[in-house]
Amino acid sequence: MSASDRGAFPSADLQHVLDLLSAKGYRIVGPTLREGAVVWDTITRISDLPIGWRDRQEPGRYRLERTGSPEIFGVVHGPQSLKPFVFSPHEPLLRIERAKGGFSVSPQFPKQEKIAILGARSCDLAGLSIQDHIFLKGSYRDPPYARRRENLFVIVVHCTRALSTCFCSSMKTGPRAQIGFDLALAELDGVILIEAGSQAGREVMAELSLQPVPEALQAEAAKRIDACADSQTHLQGQATLPQALYDAHDHHRWDEVASRCLACTNCTMVCPTCFCHTVEDRPTLDRQTTERTRLWDSCFTHEHGYIHGKNIRPTIKDRYRMWLTHKFAAWHNQFGMSGCVGCGRCITWCPVGIDVREEIAALLAPNGNPAARRSGGS
Ligand code: SF4
Ligand code: SF4
Repeated sequence: MSASDRGAFPSADLQHVLDLLSAKGYRIVGPTLREGAVVWDTITRISDLPIGWRDRQEPGRYRLERTGSPEIFGVVHGPQSLKPFVFSPHEPLLRIERAKGGFSVSPQFPKQEKIAILGARSCDLAGLSIQDHIFLKGSYRDPPYARRRENLFVIVVHCTRALSTCFCSSMKTGPRAQIGFDLALAELDGVILIEAGSQAGREVMAELSLQPVPEALQAEAAKRIDACADSQTHLQGQATLPQALYDAHDHHRWDEVASRCLACTNCTMVCPTCFCHTVEDRPTLDRQTTERTRLWDSCFTHEHGYIHGKNIRPTIKDRYRMWLTHKFAAWHNQFGMSGCVGCGRCITWCPVGIDVREEIAALLAPNGNPAARRSGGS
């Protein structure tokens, strides 16, 4: 990275970045407060952001707290990753109409819209990269996904505070964003450091009035990001985890976790890497037209396991085991990487507080009890 790819500006000048992106035709989306959580929404002013708020996340618990500080990016993340911006929860694929002598079929595409996301985290980028792998790099390139993805501009914020549910450092996806962003920000006591990660990002930076980054400030940012990594719970035994999970297929812990799991699907809805979907045909009452729609699905539903006259995962135990083993073991065989980026959302948003780190520790422990975990974050 060259020196011209880096700069600094007072935090209040973040508005210039928003104005510049707006002038370039982007709809800017950032974290906003709504009904006790942080959700992505369109913003035009930095005052639309949750300035002076922080999130506290624990298994099955999410709370926002007012800090009164001028910190702009104090909230780490809400229930949504970047997934809905590229892999829509509800995507019309085809419109089929009766025509003279047969049918006419029209593929449906999402409208072209340039979206700039402000305030993504490194785990969100890692999730996006996995979705790219699934929807763009396999033998089939998904047209709706591709259209949404090519219009996305991502501004990531390096994390300097970990939640108690975060384990991105174990999954090597954070807290520093390494690749996949257009611009990256580090917020430090009234100053924002900015760096470009793409040509589009460089073009935006070239139009900003930036100051050079003092070395002491760069070192302070690195120190805070490293401290964030050190404060996290660490998932042990990554290298041997896939085989250990295959070997734990008959472990009694699966019965125990199944007795708590509600099969509510929350974990899969909030997960940035889950990509299961179903397709529905919705005919009109006059049977002249049908719309074929793709919808998010979950491996926790009973119907998802139903194939060819038989349900291959009839119990919650079957489904939880499949989900966890796919994420942390089979994903390596299928895609050459882990299916988890360590964002911790499945832990926070599980209504009964099932913590995937504890389940893995229990499955790997000889007596089935979770090894003591280091506490960390908030
Ligand atoms: S499995 Fe849980 S921690 Fe891992 S990426 Fe999905 S939601 Fe995040
Ligand atoms: S969020 Fe929790 S209760 Fe719901 S399906 Fe996932 S593990 Fe089960």
